[in-house]
Amino acid sequence: MAEAKKSESVSKDAVGGVSIDNVGKKKDIDPVPMVQVKSGFAGWTLRGGRVICPATETDAVLDIRIDDGVITAMEPPGVIPYEASDIDVSGLIVTPGLIDFHVHTAQAMSCYGVCADRNGIASGVCHVNDMAGVGWLAPNVMREYTKEVITPMTATIYSAGCGNPENWAIGCPDVCAASTDEKLLEGAIRANPDLFTSIKVHCDIGFLSCYGDEPLRGYHTARRVARRLDIPLYLHLGLFTQHDGHLSEIFDSLMAEIVDTLAPGDVIGHVLSYKPGTIFEKDVDHWTKLLAHDDLHWEVGHGANLCFDMAKEWKKNGKPLLISTDAHMMKPHLGMVDSQATLPHQRGPLQRLTLVGTMSKLRNVGYSLTEVIRGASEIPARALRIDDKMGRLSVGRPATITVMEDRAGHFVYADSRGAKLPATQALLPRMSVVAGRAWRLFPEKLIEFEAELNGGKPLSRGDASAKLANQGLESFDDEDELTAIEETPDEQNRRSASAM
Ligand SMILES: [Zn+2]
Repeated sequence: MAEAKKSESVSKDAVGGVSIDNVGKKKDIDPVPMVQVKSGFAGWTLRGGRVICPATETDAVLDIRIDDGVITAMEPPGVIPYEASDIDVSGLIVTPGLIDFHVHTAQAMSCYGVCADRNGIASGVCHVNDMAGVGWLAPNVMREYTKEVITPMTATIYSAGCGNPENWAIGCPDVCAASTDEKLLEGAIRANPDLFTSIKVHCDIGFLSCYGDEPLRGYHTARRVARRLDIPLYLHLGLFTQHDGHLSEIFDSLMAEIVDTLAPGDVIGHVLSYKPGTIFEKDVDHWTKLLAHDDLHWEVGHGANLCFDMAKEWKKNGKPLLISTDAHMMKPHLGMVDSQATLPHQRGPLQRLTLVGTMSKLRNVGYSLTEVIRGASEIPARALRIDDKMGRLSVGRPATITVMEDRAGHFVYADSRGAKLPATQALLPRMSVVAGRAWRLFPEKLIEFEAELNGGKPLSRGDASAKLANQGLESFDDEDELTAIEETPDEQNRRSASAM
C-alpha cells in the first residue's frame, strides 16, 4: 500500500503548473507523466537531433519533417524551412520508436501487471507487446485493454494454463498438467490476428514436469499452432517452476528435441539469465546446437533474469540481442522457483524496469549505442513482424520516434542478482512520437528512473544540448507551449480509421 500512496502523490503533482492528470489512464495507481504536444495531423519538424537509425545505417544530425503522421523529409539542418511549431531537440538522440517486446500489462487480469502507458509512451516506448497476459479463454480482455491505453500494443498469447493468463497458471501448477488445447489456442489467434503476434511456451524443467509422461505435449501443441499460423514461438528458458526431479535424466534430450524443431523467427527468451536451464550451461550439447541457429531472436527479458556477467559473455558470440524489460510487479529475487510467490497478496514493489534503463545497462557492459538502439527497435520490429511500420526512420514511413537524452555522470545500475555496475552514460526518455502524435515526457516523475536521475550531472540551463530537458524540467511555465493539445472529434475519427 505504501507504493500506491507514493504513486498517488506523484500523480497529483503538476509539471510547471500544468496538471498532468488529464493525460494518463489509471492515474490512481499508475501515474503516467506525459503531455501530448502534437496531434497526429499537425505539420512540424523535429529539429537538430542526432538521428541514429541502425536499420538504415544512419548516424547524423538531421531535421525530420512530419506531416499527417508520416515522415515527409529527413534533411541536414538548414534545408527544411523553419516554422514556429517546430520542436528543437538539438543535443538529444533521435531513434526509431522503441519497442518493448516483453511487458506484463493488463493489471486487472494479472497479479503482477504494470501499466502499458507508464512502461510505454511515458518511458519513451512507442509499442508494447504484452507477454502472456491472456490465454485462449479470454482474448477479449487484452483486446479491451489495448483500447484503454494510448501506447500501441500487441500480445503474445499464453499456450498453457487452461487458457488462463500465465500468472494464473503458475500460481496453480497442478492445473497446467492438462492445460493445453490446440483447437482453442488456434481459434483465439485466428480470431485476433492483429493482436496476437506469437505464442508463449515454457521450456524449463519445472514446467515440463507438469506434463507427466508427455513432457513436451505443451511445447508441441504450441509449436504446431505456430507453424500452421506462421507466427513465432516465444520460449521461456531458465528454471521457473518447482519440479520433483523426475525429468533430470532426460532433460537434455527433451531440450535437444525442442532445439531441433525450432523455426526461423522463433524467440529464445532470457538468454542472459544465470538460472539453471539457460544457455550459459555451456557444456551442454543442446545449447551448442541452439547457438548454431542464426535465424532466431535472442531475447534479454530483463525481469528477474539479467546477469551482467552473462551479458559480457554473450557479447563474444556476436549474436544481436532483442532488448526487452520483462517489466512486472513481482517481488525481485523471489517467485521464479516458488509458485506461491505469484499470489496477489505477494505482489511486490515495482521492479523499476525500463527499456532505456535496460539499454543503458547493456551499453555500460560493452554494447555500443547503435547496438542497444537496434536491439530495442529494428530487431523487436522484425520479431513482432511490425517492421513495415516500425524499426526504421525513412521518408514515407509513419513518424514513430523516440527522443532520448544521453546523460553523462556517475550512475550505478544493478542486475537481477543485485550485482552492481558503475556506469558513465545513462539514457533518459524525453519525447515519444507515434504516427506523428507527440508527447513530452517527465522521467523525473517516475521512480523507475531513479538510477539515472540520482547519478546524473545537473543540466545547465544554458547548455543547448539540454534544451528540451530544461523545457521539461523548468521552462514549462510557458502555458501556451505546455497545454496538452486536444484532438477534435473529427481528428479522433480519422486517427482511429487510419490505425486500422
Ligand atoms: Zn515475463
